Amino acid sequence: MIIAFDFDGTLVDSYSCIEEAFYRALEREYPWLPGKRSIAKLLTKLELQFERPKFGKTGRKIRPPLKIFQGRFARAWFEERAKLTKPLDGAHEVLKELRDQGHIVISFSAEDFIPGIKEFRLRQNGLYDLFDDVIIFGKGVSIKDAFSLVRKKYGNETFVWVDDKPWRFIGNGDENTEYVWMYFPYTARFVTDDILDKIPHLHVIYDLWSLLDVVKRLSV
Ligand SMILES: [Mg+2]
Repeated sequence: MIIAFDFDGTLVDSYSCIEEAFYRALEREYPWLPGKRSIAKLLTKLELQFERPKFGKTGRKIRPPLKIFQGRFARAWFEERAKLTKPLDGAHEVLKELRDQGHIVISFSAEDFIPGIKEFRLRQNGLYDLFDDVIIFGKGVSIKDAFSLVRKKYGNETFVWVDDKPWRFIGNGDENTEYVWMYFPYTARFVTDDILDKIPHLHVIYDLWSLLDVVKRLSV
């Protein structure tokens, strides 16, 4: 099987540290600025808007004010966030186990606001070398493009797709895809029955260890 993992909220908790990372980035880049704690709180609320499902809202793209999610400050924020990010329980062990079982294990996630930083974050958490391949979609590469690339490289075997944002699954993948929603509280608040009803072959896990059971069931 090909087993593909999203990163944020699936393999790592990079969400509960968002506010602290904003605070530290403000300290680094704007040490003279008063009210850094409050600003960090506000920025955290803004960032949450980026985590919402995007479909159906194509006409009203949310744009960050002050270009705060680009450039120097954004880089500082991502670096601080990377330092504070913690792998979820079992992340390393489950990836290793799946590779030992002979599966193709790939990282399959969206590009961050800054190109190239995903690889840095994967390395920072000691996860990079556990993957057979790292595939990133985002600007210029749609999820569909990324999926076709996987099919071209690794063939037509069962594709197990693990992600904490199940709305990403809608209209993506193929008949040979099994969709695994990794429940993560921060993003789960945006998941509705309406979203889940649109996903065939859906499995729900509440921790990474349970993925081993899903894979075992699919292997029979
Ligand atoms: Mg995610």
